[in-house]
Amino acid sequence: MIIRDNADLKKYTTFGVAASAERLVEYRGKDDLRDYFASHPASEGYYVIGGGSNILFGGDYRGTLLHPLYDREAIAVSRKDGCAYVRVDAGFEWDDLVGLCVDNGWFGLENLSAIPGTAGASAVQNIGAYGAEAKDFIESVEVYDPFGDECRTMSGAECGFGYRDSVFKRRRELIVTAVTYRLSETFVPSLEYADLKARVEAEGEPTAASVRSVIKRVRASKLPDPKEIGSGGSFFKNPVVDAGVADALSARYPSMPRYDAAGGVKIPAGWLIDTAGWKGYRCGDAGVYDKQALVLVNYGSADGVQIKDLADRITTDVRAKFGIELVPEIIIL
Ligand SMILES: Cc1cc2nc3c(=O)[nH]c(=O)nc-3n(C[C@H](O)[C@H](O)[C@H](O)COP(=O)(O)OP(=O)(O)OC[C@H]3O[C@@H](n4cnc5c(N)ncnc54)[C@H](O)[C@@H]3O)c2cc1C
Repeated sequence: MIIRDNADLKKYTTFGVAASAERLVEYRGKDDLRDYFASHPASEGYYVIGGGSNILFGGDYRGTLLHPLYDREAIAVSRKDGCAYVRVDAGFEWDDLVGLCVDNGWFGLENLSAIPGTAGASAVQNIGAYGAEAKDFIESVEVYDPFGDECRTMSGAECGFGYRDSVFKRRRELIVTAVTYRLSETFVPSLEYADLKARVEAEGEPTAASVRSVIKRVRASKLPDPKEIGSGGSFFKNPVVDAGVADALSARYPSMPRYDAAGGVKIPAGWLIDTAGWKGYRCGDAGVYDKQALVLVNYGSADGVQIKDLADRITTDVRAKFGIELVPEIIIL
């Protein structure tokens, strides 16, 4: 365990903005956590940061951040009835896990290739892409609650998974320490996205490896590589509006994409931002990615305030032009 006061956070988020934390605790597994909380009361407060790929620091963080360290050995696999049960520590890097599963013939996660972050956050966020969601494969989640010094295992059903949502977003006291995924030993391609299907089939009979490599290529062509350009992926959620609102907009913009969704009609936030004219906009080192308007980027030295300011300007403009309220998907601390 490494404990540092006044820690520099620039390398701890994919946005790469300058900020510091009053205290940063880097730990390995739940034993380290128990040691830490044995001498630091949970009531002093804490916040877990994984790969920092969905977090923007709007300034210095006044408090304690807990960061699970990556241990490539922290994996255990058992097999039963044609399934592999793969258990990893929360700090396991998500895309390494996906690669490892594909290489070993444990199938299901391949559509979630190249999503930045940690396994622990895959459960918190219920990450999703190309028609797959982490919840479809999560067998159980191990958590530690420092308030009662209690460790327990929650079944997938207990995790309250929803769209990019789980019970862990509300029960902030719970620290995810490990996740077990239930993966099939038989590959069944999940190619409900027409574009993905066409690209994969163009390479021959689909395999998990071909799905993974196509997805990695497509994502690399659309999204900034956090190692080169700072970002947090999609900055805003896709708004869901009443059918009447969507119909009025469709009359004004006949080519507007729209999808039926629970509670109304989903309109891609990227389309709204692009149509409002923000794609490729840059103010100093804060900008809107030129290949995907939903992604705000840090070209180098933007700070969290500048990124947040840009997000606010976009929100105001989209509200004025379309009457739609954009809500950040990114967690702003
Ligand atoms: C370029 C790019 C592309 C992306 N594409 C996608 C995509 O296709 N689909 C998608 O769903 N997401 C996507 N994301 C968002 C991001 O990758 C996911 O949200 C990811 O799960 C975040 O993982 P993390 O470890 O970085 O979590 P962080 O950003 O560090 O944390 C996210 C949240 O999880 C909590 N958390 C993290 N670890 C724990 C833990 N062990 N215990 C309790 N709480 C914890 C944090 O407190 C925070 O609330 C993208 C991001 C980027 C930068």
